Amino acid sequence: MQDRLGREIDYMRISITDRCNLRCGYCMPECGVPSVPHDMILRFDEIVGLVKIFCSMGIKNVKITGGEPLVRKGAVGLIKDIKAIDGIEKVSMTTNGILLSKNLNALAEAGIDSINISLDTLNRQKYLNITGFDGLNTVLKAIDECRAFPEMKVKINAVTMVDYNRDEICNLADFAAGVGATLRFIEMMPLGLGTGFDGYSQDEIIAVLEESYGSAKTINDKAGSGPAKYYSFEGLEGRIGFISPMSHKFCGSCNRIRLTSEGLLRPCLGSDVGIDLRKPMREGASDEELAQIIHDGIVNKPEGHCFETTDSLMSKIGG
Ligand code: SAM
Ligand code: SF4
Repeated sequence: MQDRLGREIDYMRISITDRCNLRCGYCMPECGVPSVPHDMILRFDEIVGLVKIFCSMGIKNVKITGGEPLVRKGAVGLIKDIKAIDGIEKVSMTTNGILLSKNLNALAEAGIDSINISLDTLNRQKYLNITGFDGLNTVLKAIDECRAFPEMKVKINAVTMVDYNRDEICNLADFAAGVGATLRFIEMMPLGLGTGFDGYSQDEIIAVLEESYGSAKTINDKAGSGPAKYYSFEGLEGRIGFISPMSHKFCGSCNRIRLTSEGLLRPCLGSDVGIDLRKPMREGASDEELAQIIHDGIVNKPEGHCFETTDSLMSKIGG
């Protein structure tokens, strides 16, 4: 369906937990997130029921995220159930990769279309500094294992931070090209703990890449369901994507909405607007009534993000 500004909304991100097994400094407090009572979290059957309604309203692509989605037991089964919904075309997941190895076969069997793996550095010590966990080799092993499933697209998402990983930009590009994955740089968003970090802009990263690989060329076809813009470089195999909400604001063509693990419909990542779906659903609202609430939420999707006045943690909304 379209919102009041004519934007076609066909993509939804579902955060299935706000817990995580890592502590990335820009996302998750060192002490983790305050514990939420179990019954405030949507059950998987409730999520599937809601996705069916969203799907009837035009949602075609679903991304499962978190927190870390794979820390929630049964996440793969949920993916399978969502993939089976008539009208859902693609289901993907964003993960830090720590628990990916042991779930890979089941994810492939569930029919997942693509996996985005977050990786900001290829240096073991820096990985530990950024995430609080000595897990680089575990993630690299999982990425390597993904190559056994060519039908499953793999993207590597990297956030850059001044003083942390400028020198990793080309290492990550070479690495992604070597394993046949698409690398995307996400600009640091001043949301939650992200406000404490300075990131590099798209243009700064392109300049670094051009120094090593020659001039960048825009690629016009879309390689995903989201806002990434893709470039090729003369001396580099494959393409590099950029998700640049700060320097190249894409709100005018935003096609996405979010559902949090507690059942809030969040029409915009950079706004505190949240519409409770859990309460009416548990009070017995019909699918038609829920569809009306969702419709009103989508119609009123904010025109653009305003991170400065947004109070949420990224780990709650799921990126
Ligand atoms: N745990 C999973 C992961 O790391 O992929 C999924 C959730 S995580 C919140 C989703 C993405 O958001 C990750 O790629 C992470 O790097 C990114 N992210 C978290 N905080 C951010 C911030 N302040 N600015 C930009 N990206 C951020
Ligand atoms: Fe966890 Fe992902 Fe946030 Fe890192 S970015 S703390 S892996 S939710």
